[in-house]
Amino acid sequence: MEIPFAEPYKIKMVEPIYRSTRSEREQWIRDANYNLFNLRSEQVYIDLLTDSGTGAMSDSQWAAIMTGDESYAGSSSFFRLKDTVKKIFGFDYFLPTHQGRAAENVLFSVLVREGDLVPGNSHFDTTKGHIEFRKATAVDCTIRESFEPENLHPFKGNVDLDLLREVLDNHPRERIPFIILTLTCNSSGGQPVSMQNMREVKALADHYKIPLIFDSARFAENAWFISQRETGYETKSIREIVMEMFTYADAMTMSSKKDGIVNIGGFIATRRKTWYDQACTFNIMFEGFVTYGGMAGRDMNALAVGLEEGTEAEYLTSRIGQVQYLGEQLTAHGITVQQPYGGHAIFVDARKFLPNVKKEEFIAQTLCIELYLEAGIRAVEVGTIMADRDPVTRENRYPKLEFMRLAIPRRVYTQLHLDVVAVALKNVFNRRATITAGYQIVQEAPILRHFTVALAPADKK
Ligand SMILES: *Cc1c(COP(=O)(O)O)cnc(C)c1O
Repeated sequence: MEIPFAEPYKIKMVEPIYRSTRSEREQWIRDANYNLFNLRSEQVYIDLLTDSGTGAMSDSQWAAIMTGDESYAGSSSFFRLKDTVKKIFGFDYFLPTHQGRAAENVLFSVLVREGDLVPGNSHFDTTKGHIEFRKATAVDCTIRESFEPENLHPFKGNVDLDLLREVLDNHPRERIPFIILTLTCNSSGGQPVSMQNMREVKALADHYKIPLIFDSARFAENAWFISQRETGYETKSIREIVMEMFTYADAMTMSSKKDGIVNIGGFIATRRKTWYDQACTFNIMFEGFVTYGGMAGRDMNALAVGLEEGTEAEYLTSRIGQVQYLGEQLTAHGITVQQPYGGHAIFVDARKFLPNVKKEEFIAQTLCIELYLEAGIRAVEVGTIMADRDPVTRENRYPKLEFMRLAIPRRVYTQLHLDVVAVALKNVFNRRATITAGYQIVQEAPILRHFTVALAPADKK
């Protein structure tokens, strides 16, 4: 028998979690206005809200925390991180920021103007937010297969080159500051982009003289998928694959809270000195001096170690293997989830799951609430609430897919926790015919509303 994989670490410190009762949860979710972001973490048993900043650091990372250099300027921790970024991604210019959206804010302050178009593959919500906030438009050029949950295309994060060419052909070059590729593509289910697609997008971008930026939060997971699925990369190391990927980018924005395996942090890296020089001013305005940019020296140290650990094949095999394990359990129960399974999360097709809830009543959100009530598990809606209103018409935008996302934090939960999730969701699935009413919005913010929206049961008008 082949020896199965297991976690390439053992557990040295634990944090107790509380298994609540259903009546407690009914009270808590009502008090939270049916928005799972409003729950207190003690009210959650297994927290799959996000894999962002929720990972467990290693003993080496904690050791690096103790040797952080907290100098305001010229911190050795900054140079350690800058050297690591150069080693892993090949970029010479590096600016730390406090997280990924801050990197977007700083770089887009340099590059994005009112009326601009930014084509890409299903832009992440904060990326889209930072584009729309500047009265520019994010144009989704993801391949059609990405919107078919049961389609087994190995690289569903890929850009449709014809769609992209159409956008580039039909708009003046000055209106397109850059193309952005999200690796892996979060919004379409943690789906990877192939090396070939990156290469082709880069060739097209070069042809039109438009820069290419990588939104890189899960770059290592993307590289792991390439090593597993793309011809020619079977024997290459993750580091070699990552290095090639970033030769196609002019710059990267990074949320270090994902594949950096730290609890806070982000950065910009680029090969363009002019971008770097301009970004420095915005970094100082919004984030902090250029050698810390919103991060403590100790956190930069932990990130330097995290980037190394996060690009080890053994780690990635167990990390993504855990996500696949959950996906397989759910599929075995007859639940439709995005296929192939993503790198950081399982995306449950909420429309298939709850056929009796109207789209106007937020199907995926309804499913998240049901799963919470069932077993205290916190998932997140990636559906109509997150899709926000159209900035012009103010109508609700109904995305092609309504997902409930179960994101797995890095190195945090065991297989048994995932078994609990699978059984809980199966229980909800078994009573799905009885779930006929969803929710209505009571209060919402004008942008990124999902974080703060207040809801009430739809049938209590
Ligand atoms: C998380 C994320 C961001 C934003 O990063 P934060 O650190 O949460 O601000 C941007 N893009 C992608 C793809 C992400 O996953």
